[in-house]
Amino acid sequence: MNNKYIYPILTLLYIFLKKNDKIYLGDDYMDCLFCEIIKGNIPSKKVYEDEKVLVFLDINPNTNGHMLIVPKEHVVTIDDISDELAAHINSVKKKLYKLLKERLNCSGLTVVQNNDYGQDVKHYHVHMIPRYENDCWHMNFRQDNLKEIEEVLKELN
Ligand code: AMP
Ligand code: ZN
Repeated sequence: MNNKYIYPILTLLYIFLKKNDKIYLGDDYMDCLFCEIIKGNIPSKKVYEDEKVLVFLDINPNTNGHMLIVPKEHVVTIDDISDELAAHINSVKKKLYKLLKERLNCSGLTVVQNNDYGQDVKHYHVHMIPRYENDCWHMNFRQDNLKEIEEVLKELN
């Protein structure tokens, strides 16, 4: 098999097994995928690094230049991340957006950060998805989703 396919296949296998709690090596569960990338044990296409974060290209990009900002500290969701680290990540977002506009000539940027449900890798990360005109990327906005939340709001107010 061509070598370039090995890491993507291993990564997908890892995500599948981890999701189903099937990874068990002797007495220890395998380390977190993104911690392994940060340690350099799994290769990545590095975009930017400082003392607090590593930024690398997403292996399955939504659009050209889709990258992930990953804190070096192993935190999982917004519940765990410190305000200081979140503020640092925000400053990195701004730097990268400038770079994306200059180098890739993107027309915009969509920032996504999944927590728990929908979060495949349980190590906090921010998706930076450069947007291009007519890229067909869209979020699913539906007015009928308002019904339930309006009932909850009534109880709160
Ligand atoms: P999420 O669903 O928000 O947890 O997103 C996880 C993201 O990690 C997905 O977009 C994957 O394509 C990406 N990903 C998984 N493994 C790797 C890897 N080895 N290198 C780069 N990105 C990865
Ligand atoms: Zn981790």
